[in-house]
Amino acid sequence: MDSQEEHIKVSIRVRPFLSYNNYHPQIIRIDDEKTIHIDDSEHTITSHYDKIFSQNSSQKDVFDFVCPSVLQTLEGFNATIFAYGQTGSGKTHTIFGVGWENNELFTENSNQGIIPRAISKLFSIENEYISFNLNFLQIYNEHLYDLLSDPARAKSLRIREYKSEIFIDGLEETSISSANECMLLLSEGIKNRAVRQTRLNNQSSRSHSIFQLYVINKKGGFRRSKLSFCDLAGCERYDKEYEMNNGHINELKNINKSLSTLGMVIHALASGNKEHIPYRDSKLTRLLQDSLGGNTKTILIATISPQIEHVDTTINTLIFADRAK
Ligand code: ADP
Ligand code: MG
Repeated sequence: MDSQEEHIKVSIRVRPFLSYNNYHPQIIRIDDEKTIHIDDSEHTITSHYDKIFSQNSSQKDVFDFVCPSVLQTLEGFNATIFAYGQTGSGKTHTIFGVGWENNELFTENSNQGIIPRAISKLFSIENEYISFNLNFLQIYNEHLYDLLSDPARAKSLRIREYKSEIFIDGLEETSISSANECMLLLSEGIKNRAVRQTRLNNQSSRSHSIFQLYVINKKGGFRRSKLSFCDLAGCERYDKEYEMNNGHINELKNINKSLSTLGMVIHALASGNKEHIPYRDSKLTRLLQDSLGGNTKTILIATISPQIEHVDTTINTLIFADRAK
């Protein structure tokens, strides 16, 4: 990899209209899979990205885009894939897919998101030197929690750096020997997240979920690379007054801070500025410090809603994605 360009890829995915949106003017137009136009009475915007997935794109189309980076973890590269976007725009659909409630993630089907496809792909490659470990965590209010062993968020975990690799004290790292075992833990983590979501006022859209697969290669020594998938907290503008009255103001500040730090870090890396990269300004970027930049492939998938009432957030999402290029 010679140029920074190859390290960071930025794509947009447009969610289809959902059935309950019965009146829907089209405000989004896509040219040549790289150019997107937003047109309504108040805005006319044109912007370019590495790839734009239209409302008709399939889960497989999206996976095909990230697949080369996933496979490169077998050759010692790290890869980090983010879904960024407002709540309801399709982040979870893109990263995990649908059907985890009844174990549909396990079997090949058109709804599978990026992670189950990546797992199937990696495990389908027979290589006696390769093994896998995984962890699944969430960041809520600038605290890290193990999604597999601590769904109730009882104990926040510390980040430690050793020889420029990031470690998290007390995080369960499970060694896995089959795709099925991996899918089982994946579904467990998603379920743990969802339980929290219904019980406590949709808080899970206010946490970042990070699923990490370590690819361990014992051929001629010991090398491990990290494949990280991040389903980020919703980037919508919150109603400040409502949030204050409900004691959520810290949550709000923390989400804004971590997403804007992520934007700055990616921007600094994309523009080749190695002087000061503000990794330490948020838990998310600190956690991913060894998985952003360097020999890492980073892919940002910004998901957007096609609905006219979301146009302001959609434009903000496009601006965020634009800065990451
Ligand atoms: P987010 O995680 O960003 O809050 P979700 O992934 O939960 O959003 O998506 C919101 C709803 O829209 C879900 O019912 C999801 O299944 C549906 N959805 C999102 N993206 C797509 C897509 N590309 N195709 C079909 N349905 C989608
Ligand atoms: Mg979600």
